[in-house]
Amino acid sequence: MHIFTRHSHHIIPSSYLHILRGPLILKRFIGIPPAFLLDDYTPRYYLLSSVDASKKRSLAYAHLHECNLCPRKCGVNRYETTGMCLIGAETAKVNVIAPHRGEEPCIQGFHGSGSVFFSGCNLRCVFCQNHDIAHQRKGFDLTPEELAEWYIKLQKAGNVHNINLVTPEHVVPQVVLSILAARDMGLRIPIIYNTSSFDSLDSLKLLDGLVDIYLPDFKVWRTETSKRLLKADNYTATAMESIKEMHRQVGDLSFTSDGIAKKGVLLRHLVMPGKEDEGREIMRWLAENVSRDLYVHIMEQYHPDAHVGKKRRVTRRARMGDGDAGEGVAKEQVRYAEINRAVRDDEISSVRDAAVKAGLWRFCEVNEQNSAFHL
Ligand code: SF4
Repeated sequence: MHIFTRHSHHIIPSSYLHILRGPLILKRFIGIPPAFLLDDYTPRYYLLSSVDASKKRSLAYAHLHECNLCPRKCGVNRYETTGMCLIGAETAKVNVIAPHRGEEPCIQGFHGSGSVFFSGCNLRCVFCQNHDIAHQRKGFDLTPEELAEWYIKLQKAGNVHNINLVTPEHVVPQVVLSILAARDMGLRIPIIYNTSSFDSLDSLKLLDGLVDIYLPDFKVWRTETSKRLLKADNYTATAMESIKEMHRQVGDLSFTSDGIAKKGVLLRHLVMPGKEDEGREIMRWLAENVSRDLYVHIMEQYHPDAHVGKKRRVTRRARMGDGDAGEGVAKEQVRYAEINRAVRDDEISSVRDAAVKAGLWRFCEVNEQNSAFHL
């Protein structure tokens, strides 16, 4: 058993507690409910038969020849051209590969999460906090085999707890091929699929049996909000369908006794300024349609980024109050002014209260009684 301390987010093995003195002494051990405690864990890709692995390889190549793999449904042959994600077939573009300590304590653990940040994205969130990575195609091109070699390096040299594929929705075929190649090279740690939830059922089926932990972000509830802020008009319906399928595949989040997550869904929701009513709807929907035992991280760290708060070009027509061609706000001086501020405490509490009222109870937050993180 291990303890997550409140301030450092470091994990202290409980066997060390008897030698700790002073304010770090934690009087109570954190408890993992038995239903979510695993004796041991073998990654799902390891259990896949060689026949099923071959089928997945063939399907991955077929999708690349006519890509409808995400809700953009471009239908292009990615060996010849690119679709909206701007990424071809032979390689995936990667911005950063490194052990990462910015994730939830149960994901980053002692040594970090082996994160692979893919460049490009199939959404166009105007507030994107990874704007330089997601929208600017910066990075280096890696084949599935080269990606697999990096997973092995992260496992061996980084000693990380998992391989965390960040923003992979548009490179699912390459990811599938890389996981299968890494399995043959000796990968033994769980795979995390860290997604905006703008996935298709076809791509999730391709991933079934290869992913251990799904980390979906459920961003907004209203279609008008997803159109304006994510530049996608079918986001919410797609996210609902995707999250249900992810949960069907791997269930609720479970841990080994060291407090490290090994399998299941960890749902994230970033509370947005002035959009707390949407957060409340999302919490209600999750409790009623996915699981009341869903592990949820209600995130507080929104800050204006990307296009938000940038000065807009005011045309003569707009100056004269004659309409504002794309955004419908004639005299707004900065772009997306309604979300150009930090989120308030009362907005966060209102989403949290709605989640509790709906019956959710497993939150990624500090336990007030013993300063450890809830598991
Ligand atoms: S993954 Fe890329 S090419 Fe394929 S449908 Fe989505 S945006 Fe289009």
